[in-house]
Amino acid sequence: MIILDGKKLAKKILEDLKTKTEALAKKPSLAVILANDNPSSKIYVSSKEKCALELGYQSLIYKFDNTVTQEKLIALINELNQNSDVNGILVQLPLFNHLNAQQLIEIINPKKDVDGFHPINVGKLNCGLKPYAICCTPKGVIKILDEYKIDLEGKNVIVIGRSNIVGKPLATLLLQRNATVTVAHSKTKNLKEITKTKDIVISAVGIANFVKQDMIKKDAVVIDVGISKQTNTKIMGDVDFENVKNIASHITPVPGGVGPMTIACLMENTYELYLEQNKK
Ligand code: NAP
Repeated sequence: MIILDGKKLAKKILEDLKTKTEALAKKPSLAVILANDNPSSKIYVSSKEKCALELGYQSLIYKFDNTVTQEKLIALINELNQNSDVNGILVQLPLFNHLNAQQLIEIINPKKDVDGFHPINVGKLNCGLKPYAICCTPKGVIKILDEYKIDLEGKNVIVIGRSNIVGKPLATLLLQRNATVTVAHSKTKNLKEITKTKDIVISAVGIANFVKQDMIKKDAVVIDVGISKQTNTKIMGDVDFENVKNIASHITPVPGGVGPMTIACLMENTYELYLEQNKK
């Protein structure tokens, strides 16, 4: 069994970005909007900031309390869209309940949509066109599979989860690689019978130990996107790692698998948007 080491691959990607950034006169710049007091969101935003600064990027963090209005955030995004020093704009999800996330995402200039969530970028991805940015987590999953030379062509793959930020774009990327893709969700019947036939099982659900050993075919590749916290604040994936590792050919750990790849891809997207915006 091979552990798919996302942490190591992410480090390699970040080192490469750092070297490339050192050679730039002007630095890439990432703006992050945090309008939520959820502790996990705060941690995600501070790790994004730390990572950006380590690469030599400019990091702009805009934090708001629950009195912030939709109009104020719209005005901020319009200002960031106009500011040629800002290359990437990200709205950290979820937002306070009174705010409309989709409306804000649609206001971001697609050329600065570093998360790849804008309908223009989602549409481009679905049409097989090159989006300005590809959603970070799905992009990270494909990079891990590529790094370990896991061929996708003709493989039977199941993605469990159909969110706009993970399941759907990941299914699209897998289809583009000629995998035969099944997408499962909370209304899927007989999930175990389906997963047991798959060469690759990717879980993005958010329930600890959801994927058990008896759901996996021998020598299948297992990718765990899920993150959930147990009461003792230990981070758990969706996969019952200790048991599934005995049957899988390759498996991602949690932590140290998909998570670090998401942030590395965010930094790569920022760099790519910078290049696109500074093209002569
Ligand atoms: P989400 O929007 O809550 O989507 C969860 C998906 O799981 C939904 O499609 C849901 O189905 C499906 N689901 C729920 N219960 C199920 C069940 N019993 N059987 C089959 N499917 C079920 O979450 P998300 O944003 O996609 O994120 C998924 C997980 O990945 C979360 O744990 C999140 O924290 C994690 N995540 C990790 C990273 C990373 O960097 N590692 C990045 C993003 C997200 P319905 O559509 O029918 O409701």
